[in-house]
Amino acid sequence: MKRKQKLHNLKPIKSKGAIMIAYYDGKFSAKEEIFISPDDRGFLLADGLYEVVRSYNGKLFCMEEHIERLNYGARELRLENTDFSSLGEIARQLLEKNNLQGDATVYLQVTRGVAARKHAFPAAQTPLTVFASASPFDAGKGAAARRDGGTAITLPDQRWARCDMKTIGLTANVLANQEAVERGVKEALFVRDGVILEGTHTNFFGVMDGCLVTAPANNYILGGITRKVTIELARELDIPVKEKPVFVKDIPQLAEAFITGTTTEIMPIISIDNAPVGDGRPGPVTIKLQEAYAKHIA
Ligand code: PLP
Repeated sequence: MKRKQKLHNLKPIKSKGAIMIAYYDGKFSAKEEIFISPDDRGFLLADGLYEVVRSYNGKLFCMEEHIERLNYGARELRLENTDFSSLGEIARQLLEKNNLQGDATVYLQVTRGVAARKHAFPAAQTPLTVFASASPFDAGKGAAARRDGGTAITLPDQRWARCDMKTIGLTANVLANQEAVERGVKEALFVRDGVILEGTHTNFFGVMDGCLVTAPANNYILGGITRKVTIELARELDIPVKEKPVFVKDIPQLAEAFITGTTTEIMPIISIDNAPVGDGRPGPVTIKLQEAYAKHIA
């Protein structure tokens, strides 16, 4: 008789590279040795939040803003502990412990904890699951697209109506991003009621009649931190900004377009649905903002 195949290998799996240190359950340990319960509400119900923070030269960029957004999401999700300010220090320590003095990202995830599966909240005081890890980031990978521009497609927005919370329930984003990959473009742009709202992991901006336009930060988009920095930089540069809907029917009128995100930074979009945006090259407003963004980081 054949021996039964082992379904679970509980031994730590060593990755080929260095052992990475992560944070879980109040302590730092080797990432390979961290096991999260199958009863975790993040695993069972996607009942949680996340953040991705970029670091440059070993320094975290806009950490406070990421914590503020996490705290906002936690209040909206009615998580018991709504102050995650200690994660700033944990993120900093992760960079240090993993020797990440160059380009890196820190991933933070919080869930409503471990409990027998039911939809309603578990007992009060159920500890939240808090996980954080750090990884080296290859900034060179996106450099060509940031210089020459990337392409995008539009897709119907099949997400829910609380996109302002950065929840780990990303099924619609995953499917749309996979379609972008399969169709050979950089990003898929979500469209609801004819309005281009944002990308699968980026915010969207257009330049129309000399004015920067982007969807208003309401429940239909994630209020991106790069979006906020970009708007502030545009104001400093006296570029007029309007937070108003950009319609698909406006695409032929766009002189320029770009997307923003923590790891994407500011990336020109030179064609949407196979039609060139403007003259099909990164435009002067986008380039000016990219330069200002680079200066801001430095
Ligand atoms: N919109 C969505 C749906 C996202 O998932 C993200 C980032 O992951 C963004 C926008 C960009 O946000 P940020 O600039 O804070 O990275």
